[in-house]
Amino acid sequence: MADTTWLNDIKNMVGKQYGKVYAWDHVNPAMIRQWCEVMGVTNPLYTDESFANDTEFGGIVAPPTMLQAWCMEGLHMNNYPPGSTDENPYQALKLFEAQGFEAVVAVNSDLHFDRYVSLGEKLYYTTQLTDVGDEKVTALGTGYFVTLTLSFFAEQVDGDEPVGNLLFRVFKFKPHKKPEPVTTDSNDSAVPKILRSKPVISNDNAFFWDGVEQGELRIQQCNRCEKLQHPPGPICSHCQHLEMGYIKASGKGHIYSFVIMHYPEVPPFDYPNPIGLIELDEGVRIVAQLTGIKRDDIRIGKAVQVTFEKFDGDLTLPLFTAAQN
Ligand code: ZN
Repeated sequence: MADTTWLNDIKNMVGKQYGKVYAWDHVNPAMIRQWCEVMGVTNPLYTDESFANDTEFGGIVAPPTMLQAWCMEGLHMNNYPPGSTDENPYQALKLFEAQGFEAVVAVNSDLHFDRYVSLGEKLYYTTQLTDVGDEKVTALGTGYFVTLTLSFFAEQVDGDEPVGNLLFRVFKFKPHKKPEPVTTDSNDSAVPKILRSKPVISNDNAFFWDGVEQGELRIQQCNRCEKLQHPPGPICSHCQHLEMGYIKASGKGHIYSFVIMHYPEVPPFDYPNPIGLIELDEGVRIVAQLTGIKRDDIRIGKAVQVTFEKFDGDLTLPLFTAAQN
């Protein structure tokens, strides 16, 4: 029988209350104005004092959905105001991680409001571990739904008053194992190896893929205005001329932008999988996989050059690697 002591330890924590986390600032017009600006909220109740004074509220109130913002730590993690608890309300999540349930995905977030908060009020919240579900198998993996509730209060001389709460639920899980790689060497293999998609070659882009086969990076050029464009198309996007040629590019450029794909891991790619948007010295941009560059060395502006690699025996692709100086 599996040892579930650790799970009982976590379930016994359900109902546990974690202490106060205070707001750095009293409810103030500067934060409200900035929040409204960022969120595109234009209701004058939140920013126009003369308007707000004539309403039932008798002055500016904060947008209810701003509730969580008041008690946030700010730029630096765990930087809470003096007097705040130093207990970690996410203790249960740490315990799941210790058992190998390391991945997390947010599932629900429900905000409930008791009343508006007004300028000058001081808020804090407490956290409760509300629920830990039974083990569930999902498309993502196997794990547990964990629900926490943050209850927000306004300080009052004669007893603090609840102003709202935030319930959020996460799924802590062990991701499904990725399929074992299958080679094509074995004839009795039931599962065919997943290959890279082949490019769809048309009259418009055949020159590009012919070039790749020959170790050349070709960029489409208009025969009339001589402007370059990539990806190739049937018509010049600058002057709408229909007769298009190409140039042989130097293959040199720099990383204009990039992403590094971590998840989900989709065959046949290796992970992490860095993809660059390369600005060529000729001025056009091309999307391509980055290869042979250490993670920390992948950065915007880095000089790169094309390299051609063969995949699955018959597919040549242009990739980019660090420029050789
Ligand atoms: Zn043109």
